[in-house]
Amino acid sequence: MNVIAETPVLIVGGGPVGLGLSLSLSQLGTPNILVEKDGGTALVMLTKGGGHNERSMEFFRRWGVRNEVVAKAMPEDYPRRTVFCTALNGHELGNSPEPPWRENSYSPERRHKIPAYLFDPILARAALATKLSDIRYNSRFEQLVQDDKGVTAELTNTVSGEPFAIRAQYIVACDGSASNVRTSLGIPFPGKDLGYSLSAMLRIDELERHHSLGKTERFLFVGTNGSWASMSAADGRGLWRFNLLYSKEKYDLDNIDIQTYLKRAFGKQIPYEFIRMAPWKRSQCCADRLRAGRVFLAGDAAHTTSPTGGLGGNTGLGDAIGLSWILDAVVRGWGSPGLLDAYEVERRPIAVRNSTMSTRNFKGWMSGGTGTDFSKVLDETSEGEAARKKAGREMAAMLYPEWYNVGIALGYRYEGSPIIVPDGTNEPPDDPSEYIPTSRPGHRAPHAWLADGRSTLDLFGRGFVLLRFGGSPPDVTPLLAGTSRRNVPLSVVDIESSDIMKLYERRLVLVRPDGHAAWRGNELPPNIDDLVETIRGGKARSSATVNGGSYKRKAVAV
Ligand SMILES: Cc1cc2nc3c(=O)[nH]c(=O)nc-3n(C[C@H](O)[C@H](O)[C@H](O)COP(=O)(O)OP(=O)(O)OC[C@H]3O[C@@H](n4cnc5c(N)ncnc54)[C@H](O)[C@@H]3O)c2cc1C
Repeated sequence: MNVIAETPVLIVGGGPVGLGLSLSLSQLGTPNILVEKDGGTALVMLTKGGGHNERSMEFFRRWGVRNEVVAKAMPEDYPRRTVFCTALNGHELGNSPEPPWRENSYSPERRHKIPAYLFDPILARAALATKLSDIRYNSRFEQLVQDDKGVTAELTNTVSGEPFAIRAQYIVACDGSASNVRTSLGIPFPGKDLGYSLSAMLRIDELERHHSLGKTERFLFVGTNGSWASMSAADGRGLWRFNLLYSKEKYDLDNIDIQTYLKRAFGKQIPYEFIRMAPWKRSQCCADRLRAGRVFLAGDAAHTTSPTGGLGGNTGLGDAIGLSWILDAVVRGWGSPGLLDAYEVERRPIAVRNSTMSTRNFKGWMSGGTGTDFSKVLDETSEGEAARKKAGREMAAMLYPEWYNVGIALGYRYEGSPIIVPDGTNEPPDDPSEYIPTSRPGHRAPHAWLADGRSTLDLFGRGFVLLRFGGSPPDVTPLLAGTSRRNVPLSVVDIESSDIMKLYERRLVLVRPDGHAAWRGNELPPNIDDLVETIRGGKARSSATVNGGSYKRKAVAV
């Protein structure tokens, strides 16, 4: 087959994760080709949501796209809460507010919501602007062959039907939940089937004029069997996504009477423009392996997540950040092949953690708290009113962590990673709703504002950064010499602020390119080479062969 191009990294799939990975690699300086089977980016008004948590917004800040995302996102003053109701013009059961949408002390960024059809093109444009991302549309991945030196992807031009091939050192599958790459490698994708859903995109101007529940980001429609549908503001400017929540069978678009469902949800006639609808499958699956030789899985190709909590895309973007610096390091030669195994060890448990939380949220959506009784919620009696109030309270309690999830966004850590140097401290609790900043190795290095107005997070992204705190910081010449011997990029930043020193807990904190602490101490360790070898992957023996990696990881089941 005609090999038309060679590249260090080939990315299959141009959704948010593939595009984020391409942009991240390019900004690190590693050229890459992205192939996408469609003729462009986010061509149809996608039914997917676009809730980006604080961590993803931090990535956008690093990538230089944060301002454009915020400009196109849902307006900041849009009331962010979920109202549980029998219909827009029916009874309210209760509501669940999002945390006050204000500046927080944990992150330089706040969460934002932007629909995929606006968001994905921002990433594509930024990636192309680097001149190192080569995006090829109408290019469908078919299969791959790998050998000791590289991997050849066989593709089809979807316009001409012509086959062609691209040769790469590494391939990353970002081709979504049905991933051709994953299936062609035979990687099992076990998990839970959570049924079928259907999303309909609608345009309704000033919806709040047609009901008395108040301007609200999301409604959850409840009947005598629990919740059956939801409706979320997609952009805060009149675009709505109406979802039927559960069916055992896939919805048949030719025979579904969506108008009847909408009438039930609205409780009276409300004028709307119907845009499109699409059925989709809800599941919680995670690939047994995120690596097979020179091929990696990321985003929905690696793990699926119920959208309840908006964690699927956020988790995938975390994969993109986690994998990009590793691939960049290995391609440039300062990273040892052992780094490649760390990706799965670090990211797979996070995927399981986040998708488990999302399934829990989904159960709360469907049936409230344990034993919530919905049988009387439609009754026009005082008994019915009492039943509604009780069910509403139970749903709000159950769904608290869905909105209050700063711990999920910022508190994830890479415990047991072979490229992190543990400092002997105990792992703090991983609470979905609480985030306690820490520089403990494996955790995201904390945010604090520097005297010049930047965030500490703005220091990270290119190479390792050694933060030195205090007036007379320890001598770090041996570490500079040790990293230089191995060409590991390292810069040293001195911070005098005693508040930030307190936040960072040690006088020396070594932060990786992805913003996670790799090591910390009050003085350098005696064996510098050991430290350098660990962080560059030299001590994580790569046991992966071209047919599949087998690094022993902590057992995490879906
Ligand atoms: C209703 C709904 C609401 C959601 N809300 C949120 C939310 O608020 N926040 C959040 O973080 N997540 C949310 N998600 C999840 C989020 O949309 C996904 O996790 C995210 O889109 C995954 O991105 P991806 O790039 O991995 O895959 P995808 O977005 O599926 O992109 C895969 C890309 O690969 C291409 N492709 C597929 N096969 C091939 C092939 N053989 N060759 C070449 N290209 C190929 C596809 O055309 C596509 O462009 C929601 C999902 C749904 C369904």
